[in-house]
Amino acid sequence: MPTNNSCIVTYSPAYTIVPTYECFNRCTYCNFRTEPGQSPWMTLLAAESVLKQLQGENVCEILILSGEVHPRSPKREAWLQRIYDLCELALAMGFLPHTNVGPLSWEEMQKLKNVNVSMGLMLEQLTPALLNTVHRHAPSKLPQVRLQQLQWAGELQIPFTTGLLLGIGETPDDWWETLAAISQLHQRYHHIQEVILQPHSPGHQQSFDAPPFDPHQLPEVIAKARQILPPDITIQIPPNLVKDDRWLLACIEAGARDLGGIGPKDEVNPDYPHVQEQALREILHSGGWELVPRSPVYPQFDQWLSEKLQKAVKQWRNV
Ligand code: SF4
Repeated sequence: MPTNNSCIVTYSPAYTIVPTYECFNRCTYCNFRTEPGQSPWMTLLAAESVLKQLQGENVCEILILSGEVHPRSPKREAWLQRIYDLCELALAMGFLPHTNVGPLSWEEMQKLKNVNVSMGLMLEQLTPALLNTVHRHAPSKLPQVRLQQLQWAGELQIPFTTGLLLGIGETPDDWWETLAAISQLHQRYHHIQEVILQPHSPGHQQSFDAPPFDPHQLPEVIAKARQILPPDITIQIPPNLVKDDRWLLACIEAGARDLGGIGPKDEVNPDYPHVQEQALREILHSGGWELVPRSPVYPQFDQWLSEKLQKAVKQWRNV
């Protein structure tokens, strides 16, 4: 076991399951979506077969990541039920589900709380300016709707992950405003586990024609975010989007302490393969840091979970 907590960087051994790639939003930087009706939904049978192969592989988190079915679509209820059933299946097979499927109604969120140890939604950016650009055809990206999700998660006592997408047309002042809003909500509900700082990284499918967010700028953003966010919120960066080892270490020095879910594929950025655990361990070691696995729920939130979920988490805490 590590002896010095100040030198620890965490990651979550994870696998991503995608109920569907179809999404009614059309964010222009998206490298994930297909048109509604054009991708079959993942069946429980197919998921069971994938999960069976993961048993004994030390995968703890099943990240359920989905494109969105319109809230008023007749398919919405079936979509939500499929997500619920996939979470329930993952739990029954010994994994810990974490769902991130876009804005939900209060009732939908309440339902998924029963089968998730934590949930997430990127706030991305609060500025309404993006509604005229990258989010012009993305009704789910209304900043107030997303902020309300964070508030509901707090009211429902759901341990929550959120974050910013950097380099999609916002200004530095927008970053600080978005971070301040997260900070305020956390001070009210104490429910945010992590804030992800995700640099825009162009992929093969997107129509948004902009350069990648400069990774050299990231340490500076992390350092300022560290000042704005309360100390009990961990800052997470996706290591596959910070290609240069030196800059990855600079991000850690600046205050990032988590590398998120590491699995076979980054579904959101499929053009950027994950650096695998051993390689990450070596990079971090060269800077005097130790890479340690974590569960998708931080221990301080265990008491918010149902007895059934607490039992599932306990099995991983004792490994
Ligand atoms: S980024 Fe998310 S919400 Fe936007 S189109 Fe892609 S899948 Fe849909």
